[in-house]
Amino acid sequence: MPSDPHADARVDVEDAATGPASALRAAGLRVTGQRVAVLASLVDARDAAQHLSAAQVAAAARSRTEGISTQAVYDCLDALTDAGLVRRIEPAGRPALFEARVGDNHHHLVCRDCGYTVDVDCTHGAAPCLTPDVDHGFVVDEAEVVFWGRCAACAATPSSTGRSPGGPAGAAPRARRQLAPAQARTRH
Ligand SMILES: [Zn+2]
Ligand SMILES: [Zn+2]
Repeated sequence: MPSDPHADARVDVEDAATGPASALRAAGLRVTGQRVAVLASLVDARDAAQHLSAAQVAAAARSRTEGISTQAVYDCLDALTDAGLVRRIEPAGRPALFEARVGDNHHHLVCRDCGYTVDVDCTHGAAPCLTPDVDHGFVVDEAEVVFWGRCAACAATPSSTGRSPGGPAGAAPRARRQLAPAQARTRH
C-alpha cells in the first residue's frame, strides 16, 4: 500500500521511542538514541515498580542500543534528572537509584537487609509534605522521607538478622539488639 514517506518517518521515530522521545522533546531535550534508551529503560522499570542503579540502567539501555558507554549513561541520567524526567534517590549508605516516576512527591521504603526499595504514596500531599518546627530562615521546598525496615521476605527469614546491611548509622546496633536475646538464650 503506497504511503507518504514523510509520514512514515515520523511514525518510525514515535514507534521506536513510544513515549520517551515525546517526553524528551516536551522537556526541551534533544532526542538522541542514548537518551531514548535510558529513559525507555526507566519507564519499563517504573511499570515493573522497580528502581534501578546506574549500572542496572546501563545494562538495560545496552539491551536496547548496543555500545552505550557507562559515561554516556551517567551523562544521560544527569540530563534527564536535571530536566525532571527522572528522579534520583540516594538512600544513605547505598548506591543512588533512578526512577521515571516523577512529580508526585512519593516516598520510599528501603529494606536494610536486601536493599529492596518500593514506592509509597505521600501521605501528606504536596511537597514539602513535612515542615520543620524551626526553619532557620530556609525556604523549604522538599522533605525527603525514607522509611527504613526489613521487607516481608527478609523479615520472614530469621537468619538474615545477622547480615550487615551496610545501611545508615543505627542499622547495626538495632540488629545487634534483636540478636542479643537469642544469643543469651543459647548460652544457657
Ligand atoms: Zn529485604
Ligand atoms: Zn520511587
